[in-house]
Amino acid sequence: MLSRATKLVRLGRSSADLHNAVNPPVVRGSTTLFPTLAAFRASYSGVTFEVARYGRSGTSTVFELQAALADLCDAETCIATASGLSALAAVLGAHAGAGKQILIQSDVYGPTRILAETELVRQGCDVRFFETEQQLESLICSATSLVLIEIPASLTMRMIDVRSVCHVAHAHGIPVCCDSSWGTPLFFDAHGLGIDISVHAATKYIGGHSDIMLGLITGSYAALASTRDWCAHYGSTAAPDNCWLALRGLRTLEVRLQRHQATATQVATWMRDHQKIERVLFPALEEDAGYDLWKAQFSGAAGPFIVELSPCSEVDYERFIESLRLFGLGTSWGGFESLIMPAIPHNLRESKEFPAQGRLVRLHVGLEDPTDLCADLEQALEWLSV
Ligand SMILES: *Cc1c(COP(=O)(O)O)cnc(C)c1O
Repeated sequence: MLSRATKLVRLGRSSADLHNAVNPPVVRGSTTLFPTLAAFRASYSGVTFEVARYGRSGTSTVFELQAALADLCDAETCIATASGLSALAAVLGAHAGAGKQILIQSDVYGPTRILAETELVRQGCDVRFFETEQQLESLICSATSLVLIEIPASLTMRMIDVRSVCHVAHAHGIPVCCDSSWGTPLFFDAHGLGIDISVHAATKYIGGHSDIMLGLITGSYAALASTRDWCAHYGSTAAPDNCWLALRGLRTLEVRLQRHQATATQVATWMRDHQKIERVLFPALEEDAGYDLWKAQFSGAAGPFIVELSPCSEVDYERFIESLRLFGLGTSWGGFESLIMPAIPHNLRESKEFPAQGRLVRLHVGLEDPTDLCADLEQALEWLSV
């Protein structure tokens, strides 16, 4: 079997052969034309989002990306959607409903939690949040239709034991969905650990250049059946141009991630040892609470992590952020450039124990030189009068 690095170069290029090109063409289209009535009819018996039928169910460019991701993730199939959040909305929506219960890890990506607390609850769905496998087990009941986890959790960087979550849920016949965006298919083998439905915000590392919005859902045909129907019925669709850019991003995913990992580890270690830093939440650091689970479940660490500054005034905190030159102030991560944003997990979590005292920021370490990044952080940290 080919390694994932080799697969990244080869996958998703079958339609390029028709044009004697290296890359597949971008096929944009609303209408699909058929040579015969029989071919037109046949398109309606194929799997939605895998056969050319009408633009809403995809073109060859979308199919190329989906097939590449499915192969890379050792999954049967993949569905592309307009954004990472729309992919999560599709999975949640497909499993929600009056009389059903959905169990969600408490510190998931903020918009995922908001979606569950508003739209799912409005449908009459019972939404409950859990922190540990023990809490999960105690909440499971006959109405439970889905368990949703995210690893590491967006703003707490908390690691959960995926195998044991799957063990608990599967014992009751309940599917588990995981937001796998941080690890990407290269560092995190979601399906190998037992996950039924894996979601990637391809907006982040798969796109890799901060210029697209895209979501990808992988799993078996059976696990994705209701999600596929939901996407078809609600008109969920991914733009061919974005899928083409995601295919381009895939080619360099392995080299980019290796560099993100090396630089993030160097910057995180430097920050951990800095006197104006209270702590760094990055599972690849040995003293991190999630280190053992990270080692056991991941083959690498990506670029975003959380830093708790030593207690300081609001003015100092703002000056620190605004005086950085190499870290742009903005949401998101996964692009080639470094970013910083204020992190406020206590707004998103029931648990009161977090954060401790200092103020939090989330860094995304890009592809810049780590020495330059540390020098930039050093000059900005001088604003903190600790
Ligand atoms: C960004 C992100 C999403 C949402 O993806 P979009 O493409 O921005 O909608 C979902 N989950 C995680 C963990 C993310 O970081």
